[in-house]
Amino acid sequence: MTATAANQAEFAELVAARRDLHAHPELGFQEHRTASLVAERLRALGYDVKTGVGRTGVVGVLRGTGPAGGRAGRTVLLRADMDALPVQETNEVAYRSTAPGVMHACGHDAHVAIGLAVARRLAAARNAWAGTVKLAFQPAEETGEGAEAMIADGVLDAPTVDAAFGLHVISNLPIGSISATSGAIMGSVDNFTIRIRGKGGHAAMPQDAVDPVLAAAHVTTALQSLVSRTADPFDHLVVSVTRIQTGTTDNVIPEHAELGGTVRTMGGRLYAEVPRRLAALVNGVAGGLGCTAEVDYVRQTPAVVNDEAMTALVARVAGDVVGTTNVNTGARMLGGEDFSLFLQRVPGCFAWVGSGNTARGYDAPHHSPRFDIDESAMPVGVDLLERVAREYLR
Ligand SMILES: [Zn+2]
Ligand SMILES: [Zn+2]
Repeated sequence: MTATAANQAEFAELVAARRDLHAHPELGFQEHRTASLVAERLRALGYDVKTGVGRTGVVGVLRGTGPAGGRAGRTVLLRADMDALPVQETNEVAYRSTAPGVMHACGHDAHVAIGLAVARRLAAARNAWAGTVKLAFQPAEETGEGAEAMIADGVLDAPTVDAAFGLHVISNLPIGSISATSGAIMGSVDNFTIRIRGKGGHAAMPQDAVDPVLAAAHVTTALQSLVSRTADPFDHLVVSVTRIQTGTTDNVIPEHAELGGTVRTMGGRLYAEVPRRLAALVNGVAGGLGCTAEVDYVRQTPAVVNDEAMTALVARVAGDVVGTTNVNTGARMLGGEDFSLFLQRVPGCFAWVGSGNTARGYDAPHHSPRFDIDESAMPVGVDLLERVAREYLR
């Protein structure tokens, strides 16, 4: 086969794999069909396969048989997430989701297809590299639980992982571009629930009641002062109140109100301080209005922090793949990603591969019912991950 024919065959396989996964999406920790498909293909390629790693996760390990040198004693982990979202797809495509209310609306179908193609390439070239590659097909990224579950089940041990790399296709970067940014690139994800208790009564006699609705409104407004008055204007902080639940009818002051929302930071001082500041503010404001408040603050995932040297490696390889002018080294966002848990333990880099193409209509945001990718992003991702792994082990 010529190089072009091989590329065409690989692309056809990527598209077929991705569309099959797209048509059969599975929610976090329910990726049974996906996991068994992955395990079967990895075994056929000669990988040592473990299933049930972090419930529905799959790990494939392969040792290169090429001439040892440099970092040949090391192990590199490549991660692909597998889960879909509780979204009803509205795309009218041949490969649309066949599962009601479940959709690959984030592109994890592409990540699995890319991971399998990388597995195939590394196996085919096994005698040209040395060291160990560990492919981690992760469940439940969207709920922020899968990476933790795989780590708890030993994905970073035996053999011990020395570096970790992952990627995400991304619709707001154009096709043919790659982003590899050093330092904190994605936000920490914390969630909160605030319960405010007042004293119910008649809406026309507020003097006999303690109004939790008014307190909820003031708390919501006051929480924005965390952003404007607590954060250094050059730091990053998002506080979003996303739900307020209270009351039953027009002429009754209710007993209580519940607020919920999320806090995002890029780590550091704000990550450490915001929980305490938020609780103090809520208690002060609610207390000043005669109510009591209770804050339930839950840390979900820390910020994604890319290692400087590993990011330099990815950016260099990315330049070879898409040309240096198409490599972005400054993109950041406050969305969350549980790849951060791998990066807390081993150095590595999480890269973005542009999959947006406005001219072809691939511009819907992630998690939207119209989300789709320009599939030519997949070979870019395969090139990137395969070359990064081999470059790291060289
Ligand atoms: Zn997502
Ligand atoms: Zn995602």
